[in-house]
Amino acid sequence: MRIQLPKKIEYVISLFQQAGFEVFAVGGCIRDSLLGRTPHDWDITTNATPEQIKEVLNNHKTIDTGIRYGTVTLVLDNENIEITTYRTECGYDDNRHPQKISFTPCLTEDLARRDFTINAMAYNHEQGIIDEFGGLADLRNRIIRTVGNSRERFHEDGLRILRGLRFAAVLDFEIAAETKEQIHQCRDLLQNISGERIYSEFTKLLLSANPTKILREFADVVCVFMPEMQPNIGLVQNHPYHAYSVYEHILKALEYTPQDKIIRYAVLFHDLGKGYTKTTDEKGVDHFRGHPAVSVRKAEIIMERLKFSNEEMEQISLLIKYHDVDIICDEYHIKRWLKRGGADFLRRLLEVQKADICGQNPQLLYRLEDIPPYFALIDKILAEAQCFQLSNLAINGNDLQELGFKPNKKLGKTLEQLLDAVMKGSLPNDKAILLNEAKKLKK
Ligand code: ATP
Ligand code: MG
Repeated sequence: MRIQLPKKIEYVISLFQQAGFEVFAVGGCIRDSLLGRTPHDWDITTNATPEQIKEVLNNHKTIDTGIRYGTVTLVLDNENIEITTYRTECGYDDNRHPQKISFTPCLTEDLARRDFTINAMAYNHEQGIIDEFGGLADLRNRIIRTVGNSRERFHEDGLRILRGLRFAAVLDFEIAAETKEQIHQCRDLLQNISGERIYSEFTKLLLSANPTKILREFADVVCVFMPEMQPNIGLVQNHPYHAYSVYEHILKALEYTPQDKIIRYAVLFHDLGKGYTKTTDEKGVDHFRGHPAVSVRKAEIIMERLKFSNEEMEQISLLIKYHDVDIICDEYHIKRWLKRGGADFLRRLLEVQKADICGQNPQLLYRLEDIPPYFALIDKILAEAQCFQLSNLAINGNDLQELGFKPNKKLGKTLEQLLDAVMKGSLPNDKAILLNEAKKLKK
C-alpha cells in the first residue's frame, strides 16, 4: 500500500536514509492518510539519537525544546516537523508523566508505547506500512482499541481515556469492548490530568460532527471533570415545553448546533443550573426559576478548571445568561442587542435559541419559524451601516464639551440619549442636527 507523502516529508525521510538511519512517518498522519483525511501534521520517528538527528539536519533550522524527550523540531519553510528518536516510556507514578523515557533502537517498542492501534502505525515508501498491533484491521473495522491492556495503558496516562472518546467521536468509530469497559472503570484517573490537556481533547470531541452519541454513553466520564453536570443527568422536566430529561435535552440541542466552539460550549452549559433550581408546583409542573444565572456560575467554575481563555469565558457566559430571553424582533431592539454584544454574539445567541427549541418538545418546533427574520434584520442593519454604537454616532464627547458640557456623567448620559434617538429613528445620525438637539438637552 502506498501513502502519498508531502514533498517535504519525503525530503526529510531521504536525508535520514542517506545518512544510514531507519526513518518513518508515524502516528496520526498515517491513520488520517489511510482514512482519506488530510493530516494536519506529520511526525517522523527514527533510530537516530537526538544528537544524530541534529547532525543530519545541520544545514537546517531546528528547535531544541523537546530534545530531552528525543524530539527535535525541524523548521522547513515556516512549517514545523517533529522528529523523534524511537523511545519507550516506563514507570508512570502519577497517571500522566512517565518517570523514565529511554531511547530504543527498536521501532516496535516505539509503536508499543502509543495509545491506540490506529495511532501505532509507521510508514515509508521502501518498507510500506509497519503495523505490529492490528491498526489496519481496526481502521478497516472502525474500532478504537488500546495497544495492549487497556487498564494498564489508562493507568500510565489517564488522558488516553478522553483521547479514546475523542477519536471515537471525530472518526465515528466504535470503541472495542475491553477498552470501553476500562474507560468507564478507570474514569477517575482523569482527575489527575491538567485542565489544559482535558480542554484540548474535550474541545475536539465536542466540535466533532456528532459528539452526542459519545456524550450520552460516557456521561459518567464527562462528570469526572465536569461534576457540575451530574445533577442534570436523568433529571426529569415535567413541563409542556419539554419532552426529555435535562441532560438529554442538552444533547438533543447540541445535535442542532453548527461546529462552532463558542456555540457548542454555550449549549452544553446553558441548562447546567437546572439541576440546582428545580421546584414542582401544586399541579406537578416543574420550574427552574433563575436557572440561567446559576448555569453561568457553574459554567464559570468548569471553564476556570479547564483553563478556558478569558475571551471564551466571556462569550460563552453571555450566551448562557441570555439563552432564554425573548428578543423583540424589530430594528430598534435588534440594534440594542447589537450594541450590547455585537453581530457575532447576536448570531450565536440566535443559534443557541434555535438549538434550544430543537431540543425541547417536538410538538413546539413551529417556534423555529420565528428565527429567520432576526437574521434578516441583522443583515439589513449591517448592510445599511445603521448606527448602534457611540463610536458610530456623528458627534462625540469633544463636540459636547465644545458646547459647554462638563466631562461628567451628564455628558455621557446625553450621548446615550442621542444614540438611542438615532437607533429609534427619531433623529438622523447627522452632526448639525445632533448638536442642536444636545443644546436643548443641556438646558
Ligand atoms: P491529531 O489528529 O489530533 O494530531 P494525533 O493522533 O496525531 O491526533 P497527537 O497528539 O498529535 O495526536 O499525537 C501524535 C501521536 O503520538 C499519536 O498518533 C500517538 O501515536 C502518540 N500519542 C499522542 N498522545 C499520546 C498519549 N497520551 N499516549 C500514547 N501515545 C500518544
Ligand atoms: Mg498529530
